[in-house]
Amino acid sequence: MGSCLFCDIAAGKIPCTEVHSDEKFLAFRDIDPKAPTHILVIPRLHIAGLSELQNTDTDLAGELMLTAARIASSEGLDEAGYRFVINCGQDGGQTVGHLHLHILGGRQLHWPPG
Ligand code: 5GP
Ligand code: ZN
Repeated sequence: MGSCLFCDIAAGKIPCTEVHSDEKFLAFRDIDPKAPTHILVIPRLHIAGLSELQNTDTDLAGELMLTAARIASSEGLDEAGYRFVINCGQDGGQTVGHLHLHILGGRQLHWPPG
């Protein structure tokens, strides 16, 4: 198995600013935030990206979204709103090959994204 940055963060080998942790997911602040609130939510299980999801991952994929929505609430983002982003592959702008959901909030976000 090759090394994976987010597996190393999930294993505690690389430090992060943790926001949420449970048996299936870890959430931490993005090192280069693109909005006042910018949190990454990752499954502890290594899945390379959206295109690697299997039929057996339906619970995990749903729980990822629900976990992220609860984190957004706990960050106080419900009233003003926020955005989830999952980049996939080169055209999608994915730079880390471990599935992660971005929570972005705290400012007016532009549409469409670049
Ligand atoms: P992607 O571009 O793959 O959708 O998102 C990867 C995100 O990971 C980027 O927003 C980037 O700033 C963030 N990132 C990269 N390396 C680290 C790191 O070592 N720690 C943290 N907390 N975030 C990172
Ligand atoms: Zn990984």
